[in-house]
Amino acid sequence: MVRRNASARERFFARLPGVVFRIDETGKVEFASEHGLDWAGVSTSDSLPKQVFDPETLQNLRREAIEAKGTIQTREDTVKTNLGEQRWVRIQMRALPPFTDDCQIDCILWDITELVQERNRRRESEERLQILETLSNEALFLHDGGKCVDTNNAAERMFGYTRNELLDLSASDIISSETLPLVMANIRSGYDKPYEAVAKCKDGTMFPCEINGRNVMVQDKTLRLTSFTNISDRKFAEEQIRFQASHDALTSLPNRYLFMDRLGFAIKLSQRRRECFALMFIDIDAFKELNDTGGHSTGDKVLGEIASRLTGTLRNVDTVARIGGDEFTIILPGSETPEDAEKVARKLQNALSGTPIDLGNDRPPYHVSASIGIALYPDHGETVDELLVSADDAMYAAKRSGRNNFRFATNNRSRTR
Ligand code: GH3
Ligand code: MG
Repeated sequence: MVRRNASARERFFARLPGVVFRIDETGKVEFASEHGLDWAGVSTSDSLPKQVFDPETLQNLRREAIEAKGTIQTREDTVKTNLGEQRWVRIQMRALPPFTDDCQIDCILWDITELVQERNRRRESEERLQILETLSNEALFLHDGGKCVDTNNAAERMFGYTRNELLDLSASDIISSETLPLVMANIRSGYDKPYEAVAKCKDGTMFPCEINGRNVMVQDKTLRLTSFTNISDRKFAEEQIRFQASHDALTSLPNRYLFMDRLGFAIKLSQRRRECFALMFIDIDAFKELNDTGGHSTGDKVLGEIASRLTGTLRNVDTVARIGGDEFTIILPGSETPEDAEKVARKLQNALSGTPIDLGNDRPPYHVSASIGIALYPDHGETVDELLVSADDAMYAAKRSGRNNFRFATNNRSRTR
């Protein structure tokens, strides 16, 4: 190896962890540090342009440095060492005056492969986070006792605020006033299990949400990371299932199960308040005939119309249920006397049979008539079963009396006890 300068300066360069070299006007590497040669896996600086840098790259570096007239130019590139390794390098070069084509160019090259790999890993992980963050439907808030310090895109989408607006908000701006005390109590106690609350958007709309909060340490400070998931769809589906389980599919009226529940509740309430109420049992007269003549779908249509006539006649505190084929039951809270109940029974009869139901398709309108049995709490029964039997018996009495009629229960269970 030809060493033109065996001075102390060369020994100093030799120990430098980078590759120190000089490019002459022909693109030849004139001088290279010993460490640099080892790194490149070559024994002489002459070999560098042949085996590590391609000559064209070296000429480009020269040109760039000359054009920069003495200011340091930095380039990042890959090179292949003589040991067959692909390495990332940062080359800094500077032309020496007079910056003519034949001037001298001093270069130093650092192996930055590990740095680049680390940088790429970080970029990839940031990109992955970015993708997750963009796709995530969970709104995230990092906050200090309810005061937001950081948030994500999903939060902007979910609440309709911009990120900067969100950073200015407190829990009370995005939580309904009804559920705010619960949320604040959970923040204070560090509660870390999911729970439900009602969230509030910028435009005032509310939505049910599941909140998940946990304390996190950020720069020696305990902050709280809270996620919000909009559970409107889940709530809607749950509501649908609950509704289907407790309502009749044809008329959407409460079904037998919900009716029994409401009847039990009406008994308990009336017991406590020492009040009376009326229970009515309605069975449509000769309904089979309609099915036989008009078909089942006509029967269904009429049942739907009957349901809406019954509902339309009553107050919303009353319960109308369909408990079987053409059987409807009604709970009338606050019907204290037989006269009160009788008035309602007449109104119902009028609603049902006052106007015939239009069946369409040039078919004659259908005249509905019903038989109604009335039982009063507590006179005709003090339990669900007693009241139902009494009202059912009374309805059969109305049928026997010629239909299109109502009858009161005749037993006086509670009085005879
Ligand atoms: P009554 O005056 O004695 O009550 O005579 P009815 O013909 O009404 O006889 P009943 O009340 O015993 O029969 C009710 C009929 O209602 C039996 C069945 O054909 C019909 N039904 C039951 N459920 C449905 C339904 O969901 N849709 C339709 N279209 N018909 C039904
Ligand atoms: Mg019937």
